[in-house]
Amino acid sequence: MRRLLRYVGFCKNLLFIVLLLPASSVQSQPRAESGIPKYVFFFLSDGAGMAHLEIARQYNLQVRNEDFVIVDKIMKQGSVGVMTTHAADSLSTDSAAAATALAGGCKANLGALGMCADGTTPISAMELARRRGMRLGLVTTAPVYDASPAAFVCHVPNRRDYSAIIDHYFDLAPYVLMGGGKEQFLPKSQLGSRRIDETDMIAAFVKKGYRFADTKEELERPSSGKLLGLFAPIYMSFELDRDKNREPSVYDMTRATIRLLHDQNPRGFFAFIESENIDSAAHISDIASVIHDYREFDRAVGLAYDFYRKYPRDTLIIVTSDHETGGLGFTQALKDLTSTKASNQVAGTSADLKKLQFLDISLKKAAQILGPHPSADAVDKLMREHFPGFVLAPEFKEAIVKRQPVSRTMFLDLTANTLGLMVANNTQAYWQTATHTNQPVLVAALGVGAERFRGYYDNADFGRILKNLIAGKPTK
Ligand SMILES: [Zn+2]
Repeated sequence: MRRLLRYVGFCKNLLFIVLLLPASSVQSQPRAESGIPKYVFFFLSDGAGMAHLEIARQYNLQVRNEDFVIVDKIMKQGSVGVMTTHAADSLSTDSAAAATALAGGCKANLGALGMCADGTTPISAMELARRRGMRLGLVTTAPVYDASPAAFVCHVPNRRDYSAIIDHYFDLAPYVLMGGGKEQFLPKSQLGSRRIDETDMIAAFVKKGYRFADTKEELERPSSGKLLGLFAPIYMSFELDRDKNREPSVYDMTRATIRLLHDQNPRGFFAFIESENIDSAAHISDIASVIHDYREFDRAVGLAYDFYRKYPRDTLIIVTSDHETGGLGFTQALKDLTSTKASNQVAGTSADLKKLQFLDISLKKAAQILGPHPSADAVDKLMREHFPGFVLAPEFKEAIVKRQPVSRTMFLDLTANTLGLMVANNTQAYWQTATHTNQPVLVAALGVGAERFRGYYDNADFGRILKNLIAGKPTK
């Protein structure tokens, strides 16, 4: 506890320093003439590599006959960069170290939030935006205290110090704070709480002047002022499973965020908007959820694009990822393990891509339906009801029933990962792993300062470029 309090104190001290900076160091208000964006959208598709993007784009094109905003608008009208993502102590990063690099401009060790590997504590791009008087918005489908949003404003050595992160949010008071994670805001004795103390953080935020919403209806009620939105106990639902009347999507949250941040605001805003679901889907080898959650995220980017069209000289949109998850890609494979002859080989086609539209639940939900001890009959029933036309290889069925891993890299959710390989067998879209890889990711940027994000660079360089832009420094 004492350790925890020390971290909280550290966070508070940093905020104190930021707030007490002499007036001369508080920069003038952002405006186009200074080259500083007044409205900043930072969209993070957690875990999305180039293949995830391309598969979602192809799905939109071939199944829905729709554009993909990130490619067809942001990339084609703006700038494209390629970014390496490794952590200081590992070639494959995690969300904490990666977000620290993106927000703070330094390499970090796995698990470290807003703290550099060399022991220093960087000021983040969002903290610089706050110095300028810009409103802050933090939006995610993960718990709001999860690594990616937290690393943009907080500094703790351990990403699991949830209380310290929430206390810091309370002190920082971002204009909009939305996502999942309600269980860490409820007092310990209340049903559904995972807090370690009796503090009612929702009541504390409301007392501070926030409106609280925990349903889509409440989110969409006309209002102004600060908002705390907590729409799930921990993670928000995948698009395939979401109750569309009750729970908002990342698109719904983005629409409300733009309305609230832009309302009577001469000083601009910095909105961090994340789909954690793309990463979560990739961890369980769920390509259908990757596609549907990426499409919803892309619609959210479309809202920012519409905003940019109204304020092109004041707006910057950045869309990127913290790392790739899953080593995904359509490929050529064997139809089964009986022969390696050409007659037994098959390559992924449009028809394979189109099969994915018939999957109606996430693999997380499929694994929940089967439960911890699935019978062979239950597996057959699941296949009949939710995977029409898909074939489950006997060795995979046995692995699901016996709860055995089918490879050394597929182990996070044995049932879901194995069902993911079943989908791969039927579509030729294969996964290399259930965790993160070191594949570089794309950076798309449109608007004020977008040209700075062209080229091939490291995620720590990205953070420095972004910070220099917000700080009004002329060069990279
Ligand atoms: Zn991940």
